[in-house]
Amino acid sequence: MQYRRFGNKYFVRVDRGEEIIASLERLCGQEGISLAEVEALGAVDDFSVGLFDVEEKKYHGNHFEFPAEIVSLWGTVTTKDGKFYQHIHMSAADKEGRVFGGHLVSARVSATCEMTVDVIPGFTVERKFDEDVGLNLFEFVD
Ligand code: ZN
Repeated sequence: MQYRRFGNKYFVRVDRGEEIIASLERLCGQEGISLAEVEALGAVDDFSVGLFDVEEKKYHGNHFEFPAEIVSLWGTVTTKDGKFYQHIHMSAADKEGRVFGGHLVSARVSATCEMTVDVIPGFTVERKFDEDVGLNLFEFVD
């Protein structure tokens, strides 16, 4: 991974073989980022995405191993109990153009991943587990 900062925005190159979420966590740790929007494109060859079923309160994961283009990747960096917390969704297309996606668990880069991280310096949004929904939701404390 290599990156440069321009104002409040980082341009990040995640390299072949690197995992996207681990790379983002490393960037945020090194740069002290606690609130940001994340976008990316690129190519992956091993990724896990899924769906959280609110009724069942259960996560259904799907693992894919084939070359795929990231069609969209968007997410947030916030904090939970003061620690790094990411929430990213991704969709990726196979060679027939079929798209698979969902809540991103992991994705290994096959060629390159071009990520931008738009930081709001000096702020964070905390998360708190919501019993009703079964997820860690934004918790705004003023
Ligand atoms: Zn999600």
